Amino acid sequence: MLDTAQREMLAEIATSVAQLCARFGEDYWRDLDREGGYPTDFVVEMTEAGFLTALIPEEFGGSGLGLLEACTILETISRAGAHAGACHAQMYVMGSLLRHGSPEQKAMWLPQIASGAVRLQSFGVTEPSTGTDTTALKTRAVQVDGGWRVSGQKVWISRVEHSDLMVLLARTTPREQVAKKTEGLSAFLVDLREARGSGLEVRPIEAMINHHACELFFDDLLIPAGNLLGRAGDGWRVILDGMNAERILIAAECIGDARYFLDKASAYAREREVFGRPIGANQGVAFPLAKCLAETEAAALMVEKAALTYDDGAPCGAEANMAKYLAAEASWAAGDAAMQTHGGFAFAKDYHIERKFRETRLYRIAPVSTNLILSYLAEKVLGLPRSF
Ligand SMILES: Cc1cc2nc3c(=O)[nH]c(=O)nc-3n(C[C@H](O)[C@H](O)[C@H](O)COP(=O)(O)OP(=O)(O)OC[C@H]3O[C@@H](n4cnc5c(N)ncnc54)[C@H](O)[C@@H]3O)c2cc1C
Repeated sequence: MLDTAQREMLAEIATSVAQLCARFGEDYWRDLDREGGYPTDFVVEMTEAGFLTALIPEEFGGSGLGLLEACTILETISRAGAHAGACHAQMYVMGSLLRHGSPEQKAMWLPQIASGAVRLQSFGVTEPSTGTDTTALKTRAVQVDGGWRVSGQKVWISRVEHSDLMVLLARTTPREQVAKKTEGLSAFLVDLREARGSGLEVRPIEAMINHHACELFFDDLLIPAGNLLGRAGDGWRVILDGMNAERILIAAECIGDARYFLDKASAYAREREVFGRPIGANQGVAFPLAKCLAETEAAALMVEKAALTYDDGAPCGAEANMAKYLAAEASWAAGDAAMQTHGGFAFAKDYHIERKFRETRLYRIAPVSTNLILSYLAEKVLGLPRSF
């Protein structure tokens, strides 16, 4: 449990982030959603205020905070009706660089990321033909003089057009030649500014939400030797730190979404009068919201536990997965309840509910689907036989 001082500190962060978000307002996000635009102004302000650089140590120009504080930042963005998915990767990819980057890599990149001169917003893992079976990925990196040559394909990689750096996972030793399928993978920092047009082609995907996801085609792209993150063949371990952080941070976003839906739906249910009384006076309207409140607050406790475990440096796979599962289910249920409460007006873009409803739906699928989380918990926590 958090002590009073910690709670006060998180509340101060939340107030500052909420004030920054309020300057943009929900119409800003509705318009970007309509146009497929990127929130550059918002990202610049968030960086300058030190929020997006929360996890970068102070010696490198960041705010030197932990994952718990980062969760509060993303949760508050989501609760304000904004779309944290536009910039969250800078936080969760950071774990790979901070825990596995060499001193030279950290000295080179972290101050630039902290100042906003360089954006680290992309994480290249998913492939079209292997999907959730991550260790079966086919993108190959072959060692050559001065670095690595990469060929292959990725899909659904977010924000590539709005990022300068990407953490990429590729196979460096064929799967048949390693004892465990998690071996022989390597993680690289790709400088997208140099890579595009020199072995990397980027094609945006038209999608249900404004997430700037792209297909990537690698054709003999040269990655300099100095951009290998951690040791060759150890990439799975390198990205796992990022993946657990990602699950916890995205769970925090879901809590923000769920609280957003509950704020909006209960305000609407108090004001909207039908049959001569507020619709919220009907238990058929009130009870689904009350149920969602209980589920959201329970999920929020698990997110807090997962973040504290991560910050302690302890193994947090079980907590991260449970937090992501519970929070994504809670935000989806709250979104559905908010849609129902708003009746026909839920469909009006000016009410913002439908946009947030689409956005929060993603989190039952990405970055890891509900089934895969349940499968992890069944096998790793309950000790049940592997299903695949
Ligand atoms: C908007 C968006 C943004 C994204 N951004 C990124 C990004 O920045 N970087 C990145 O690397 N990826 C990204 N992704 C990819 C995302 O992580 C994957 O879509 C997700 O992990 C699911 O993989 P898949 O789409 O290949 O589904 P599949 O693996 O094809 O699975 C399809 C369905 O089958 C189920 N399934 C599969 N195998 C099993 C099994 N053994 N048991 C039970 N159920 C199973 C899954 O749970 C899922 O529901 C993004 C996706 C979207 C839609």
